[in-house]
Amino acid sequence: MKLSEKIENILNKKTKFIIITGGVVSSLGKGLASASLASVLQSRGFKVRLRKLDPYLNVDPGTMSPYQHGEVYVTDDGTEADLDLGHYERFSGVPAKRADSVTTGIIYQRVIDKERHGDYLGATIQVVPHVTNEIKDFIVSDISDEDFVLCEIGGTVGDIEGQPYLEAIRQLAYEIGRDRIMFVHVTLLPYIPAAGELKTKPTQHSVKQLQEYGIQPDMILCRTHIEIPENEKRKIALFCNVKEENVIQAMDASSIYQVPINYSKEGMDEAVCRYFGIEDAPKADLSKWEHIVDVLKNPEGTVTIGVVGKYTQLLEAYKSLNEALVHGGIANNYKVKIKWIDSEKLESENAEDELSDVSAILVPGGFGQRGTEGKIKAIKYARENKVPFLGICFGMQMAVIETMRDVAGIKNAGTTEFGQDCEPVVGLMTEWDKDGAKQIRHKDGDLGGTMRLGAYECVLEKGSKVAEIYGQDHISERHRHRYEVNIKYEPILNKAGMSIVGRSPDGMLPEIVEIKEHPWFIGVQFHPELKSKPFAPHPLFMSFIKAAIDNSRLI
Ligand code: GLN
Repeated sequence: MKLSEKIENILNKKTKFIIITGGVVSSLGKGLASASLASVLQSRGFKVRLRKLDPYLNVDPGTMSPYQHGEVYVTDDGTEADLDLGHYERFSGVPAKRADSVTTGIIYQRVIDKERHGDYLGATIQVVPHVTNEIKDFIVSDISDEDFVLCEIGGTVGDIEGQPYLEAIRQLAYEIGRDRIMFVHVTLLPYIPAAGELKTKPTQHSVKQLQEYGIQPDMILCRTHIEIPENEKRKIALFCNVKEENVIQAMDASSIYQVPINYSKEGMDEAVCRYFGIEDAPKADLSKWEHIVDVLKNPEGTVTIGVVGKYTQLLEAYKSLNEALVHGGIANNYKVKIKWIDSEKLESENAEDELSDVSAILVPGGFGQRGTEGKIKAIKYARENKVPFLGICFGMQMAVIETMRDVAGIKNAGTTEFGQDCEPVVGLMTEWDKDGAKQIRHKDGDLGGTMRLGAYECVLEKGSKVAEIYGQDHISERHRHRYEVNIKYEPILNKAGMSIVGRSPDGMLPEIVEIKEHPWFIGVQFHPELKSKPFAPHPLFMSFIKAAIDNSRLI
């Protein structure tokens, strides 16, 4: 469908757009702000959708280092996306899709493909209109009966990379009408201790810059450490040309789950309804968030989980995992404390010294050899000392290697991810089945977007612990890996006490392992953390935290 037809289509629907930009500094928590606003609107009975537009040139964050960009979030339909899509899904419960995430890399790829295909009929290809049209096309595509589509633009206003996005949203507002699109600008009010004041000047400058691009914000969400005095709010309103009641205070919160409650208290959802002339919407019902905040403030106890990984310096790299553990705690009325243990350091340390104070051990996903012997050391400790253990993706692969080496006696058991010089218990997958179609990969193929990605079905063994935990024997979970435990080692694994209790429907790919003679030792080839939500904790994390609590009572 042509862009003009898509825009026409939108005009015939009720869908309204809320565009979220950021100013002053990065890391303002725009993703969380967008997710929280969506959740509050949802609680008033509206259907929401969240989208992210990232101005970087990578096609997706899949090949970016977790140190630079944090976790790569994976959707059911196999998109490797920005971690903000994780916030969106956790807060709204709406599964994110490929159509909800775009980068400048993808936009240019689409434009160039069209140019090569001859679609532009000899025109000179330019940022305006070709790139901006492609951005607008992304925003208005794949919309059904949503009341609100919230689009977050990554980066900070003023970045060179962001300019085509600002031009695109300006044009969109012109085309669909200002009454169908609201611009929300998130800024920071720095506090200057020597003056004892919050400063509004950076916000004024940032809004000026937006105005230069032809965009007048309709709401300013001010991140602040302390209460904003009324006169400062008035000043922001006057200088930024925004109604005073649309200058919203976004004070630092003790927990991210408090944020939707705070925003609603500050009148953010009311302001959105007012802007769009919606008068009859029910009041926000935030009881589910209040319950979560209440459990976190008054837990029955605290349990400590040791997470052994290599990206422990940047916790954004384990965003969903961190959240899923907290959710598991909420389900058990417990506070979860995470002890981050650097797997590389653990290699030269005594496992007992580092791990004896944790009630359960988790080895998360990962790539590459660095730090792996530390992970294996932690797994051995968990297995031998009957400490609850959850291995996720790489963590499961390492757990299998540990059992093969230490219990089955195959000392050079390893993964071909680190080279061919091992017994290849974990090997590169070059062929597998996806919805009945064969997926084929080559040893030297591209790295980007070629892993086994997204939702796959898994069949659980009847009577296994995982079948009991899930309460069903067919599950669907999200994957992101290139290597896989080779099923041919199953007899040896079985003899060593490790059972394959979850497999792909064709029986070829081991997806879950368990040690039956252990109180709680499970490894999963997928990423359960991606589907956990605060108000719907993932069963594996609920059960893992319960096992940790039971174990802490024994310590
Ligand atoms: N590096 C491993 C693989 O590609 C595990 C990946 C992961 O943990 N996500 O199979």
